[in-house]
Amino acid sequence: MVASLSLPRIMRVGRGAVEELGEVMAGLGLSRPLLVTDAFLVGTGAAERLSATLTGAGVSPRLFADTVPDPTTDSLTAGLKALEEHGADSVVGFGGGSPMDSAKALALLAVQGGRMRDYKAPRVTPGPALPVIAVPTTAGSGSEATQVTVITDSDTDEKMLCLGPAFQPLAAVIDPDLTLSMPPRLTADTGLDALTHAVEAYVSRRANPFTDGLALTAIGTIGRHLRRAYADGTDTVAREATMLAATQAGLAFSNSSVALVHGMSRPIGAHFQVAHGLSNAMLFPAVTAFSVHGARARYADCARALGAATAADPDDLAADRLVDALRALCLDLAVPTPRSHGIDRDDWTRLTPVMAEQALASGSPANNPVVPTTEQIRELYARIYG
Ligand code: NAD
Repeated sequence: MVASLSLPRIMRVGRGAVEELGEVMAGLGLSRPLLVTDAFLVGTGAAERLSATLTGAGVSPRLFADTVPDPTTDSLTAGLKALEEHGADSVVGFGGGSPMDSAKALALLAVQGGRMRDYKAPRVTPGPALPVIAVPTTAGSGSEATQVTVITDSDTDEKMLCLGPAFQPLAAVIDPDLTLSMPPRLTADTGLDALTHAVEAYVSRRANPFTDGLALTAIGTIGRHLRRAYADGTDTVAREATMLAATQAGLAFSNSSVALVHGMSRPIGAHFQVAHGLSNAMLFPAVTAFSVHGARARYADCARALGAATAADPDDLAADRLVDALRALCLDLAVPTPRSHGIDRDDWTRLTPVMAEQALASGSPANNPVVPTTEQIRELYARIYG
């Protein structure tokens, strides 16, 4: 099998890396970026500090801070206008997955036009787009390293997966100190998102030897450090480890794929405004239990990497231990069920058929070790409600 791989051309990784953003941009010959971020990062002064770093390197940024969590097509309109007014030659995505995904979408629309719906998976978009430089502030989405953006259609509430080299950042500047301000809930949600990326990349039907190594390394690192980062947000060792693992997990799934957890998670986020990592986590143990029989040896490797099973455990036992370990992790990180999260049962039941259709249409379930029917997806939604 030939694996088609796409990675950022430049990555600067480590504490203090953000100070080098201006140098990275100047080195790429980029001088007029739109700096895409959100209100939180303006409020903390982080966006202003980043702007100053750029200006110091002779780069002239314009700030655009009106991105929203789980970005929508409507939220892109003002960004596109700001980009054109500035005559931007590049886009910096500064924040969690939402500002980075907004930056990617803007970079594409500025060059190719049209609507994000036109670029929805299974279409693969090769480019061109303006260069994107990604600077993550959460240890989760991995968007800084992926050829993916996720944008919700404001007309239909569909959370659309958009894929292809057009969405691959040219450079990523990954500084774990930027994650020190994450509260425990965000730490848990984003960390569980990264763990889901790594496990799904490894069990995916599109896994390959390049992504396998990244995925297993990320699983092990998250297993050792996520509880620590959740318990003590100032633990710089745990922050540094989880940040690196999130990027590695992003590289892994972007060059393999995600699978059923992500396919079923996006509709929950879109219809009930549940944070992306949290909706993954609500599904993760049950969907893994549903899927293990399709790839016991692969799930067993994940269990061993996570520290939930030993090399001596037979695959059947190790794979089951992974399900137990995910349940325990979700419990320790206070992951609610949809019900305890406040989602109304009638709304959940009413929207289940639409969510099942949207999950299947995204293409992600087709990469799962067990490819589900629509009916099985509906049953899984019913099972996790709580
Ligand atoms: P986010 O970007 O939506 O941010 C969530 C909240 O956390 C926001 O209020 C934000 O201001 C705040 N925040 C960000 N950094 C912070 C920090 N350091 N300290 C305190 N608060 C901070 O969250 P996310 O989980 O990183 O991204 C989720 C989005 O990413 C979803 O839309 C999801 O679909 C998408 N996603 C994209 C990819 C991809 O490859 N493109 C992969 C996974 C998820």
